[in-house]
Amino acid sequence: MSEVVREPACGGILIVGAGGLGAPVVRMLLDADARDLTVLDPDTVALENLHRQILYTDADVGRGKAQVLAERFGLDARPIRLDAGNGAELIAGRDCVFDGTDNFADKYLLNDLCLAAGVPLVHAGAAQFRGQVLLIRPGGPCLRCLLPEPPDAATDECRWTGVFGPAVGVVAALALGEILRVRAGDETSGAVLMADLANGRLSRARLEPRPECACRGIPISGGVS
Ligand SMILES: [Zn+2]
Repeated sequence: MSEVVREPACGGILIVGAGGLGAPVVRMLLDADARDLTVLDPDTVALENLHRQILYTDADVGRGKAQVLAERFGLDARPIRLDAGNGAELIAGRDCVFDGTDNFADKYLLNDLCLAAGVPLVHAGAAQFRGQVLLIRPGGPCLRCLLPEPPDAATDECRWTGVFGPAVGVVAALALGEILRVRAGDETSGAVLMADLANGRLSRARLEPRPECACRGIPISGGVS
């Protein structure tokens, strides 16, 4: 491994979750010489996830992901979970946030916090053979334009139904493309990028803001204002 260069190569990017989605995104950003990354993940490396969490090796099993990332890549990696209490402070001032979480509650929290902070968010999710990516900017459209409220936790398929490893890799690559668009100053948004590995298909759909959505300035009841 070459010596870590600490000079920022791009704006500050907050990576929330260094698992199946976050690990390949971090790997590809490091390969693109991006060094001003902050990575949040409170979990440990698990053997059954190694095939898709490509930052880690067998020797890392049982170790904290953040500790591994800090030691191996010199990253600002923190063993913490972003939540409603610390989220605003962690997001403020970032150039971009990447959602590598694995459950709807965290994805909607990131959606609301990034809208409130005016920070672009690259949402990504994958389950079974499918996945999607959406670049969310202040003013929308946002995740709540797609689905106003998160699905019930009991049907949270990205957590409970498992995922096909290659689907995660494709979704991560699509997400990296959106991160790099933000980094390059591209101001466009509003497209949902979809991957379907069961049928070998990539597609793109236009998403329009819902007039009554929180991203249009309407307060979220019981959520982040
Ligand atoms: Zn919205």
